[in-house]
Amino acid sequence: DGLRELLLSRIADVPDYPKQGVVFKDITPLLADPAAFGALTDAFVSLCERYEADKVVGLEARGFILAAPVAVRAGIGFVPVRKAGKLPGATLRQAYDLEYGAAEIEIHADALAPGDRVLVIDDVLATGGTAEASLELVRRAGAEVAGVAVLLELGFLAGRQRLGPGLKGAPLESL
Ligand code: 5GP
Repeated sequence: DGLRELLLSRIADVPDYPKQGVVFKDITPLLADPAAFGALTDAFVSLCERYEADKVVGLEARGFILAAPVAVRAGIGFVPVRKAGKLPGATLRQAYDLEYGAAEIEIHADALAPGDRVLVIDDVLATGGTAEASLELVRRAGAEVAGVAVLLELGFLAGRQRLGPGLKGAPLESL
């Protein structure tokens, strides 16, 4: 539909970034266009309403940019999931595998409450490792996963398949 075309027209392909043979999806043109960024924000807000989310979790770093205006417009709280070592309070930490090596992300241990329904937002779903680890954190923090919403899903990396078990029936929406 029109939203999909608008969003795709504002995502640039950058060849050989961050390394040879990879085509990076650059969302900065979308962020610079208030019509496209606004339409994306509205679409995420609609998902918050449809899935009755009462918190938005944004994944560092581009997930912060996308999720923050959603939280404000939806009138619900924003909670960051950060790379390990950045959050000042007591945290829960989750490790996950990368193509080469491993990474760790964290959430404040008291950021979510039992009964909270959380929509997890990020820009791109690639292999699904980041999203999968974030679902673990949300559940370990005591909350329920209402769904995962991304701007763009790289279907050839099969993140949807990897994430499937972690979703436990919750929806994965790519706009
Ligand atoms: P995954 O864990 O699914 O393999 O990777 C997803 C994470 O890496 C997301 O947080 C996303 O921001 C980042 N990422 C991976 N590939 C791309 C890309 O082509 N473009 C952008 N903007 N982010 C990417």
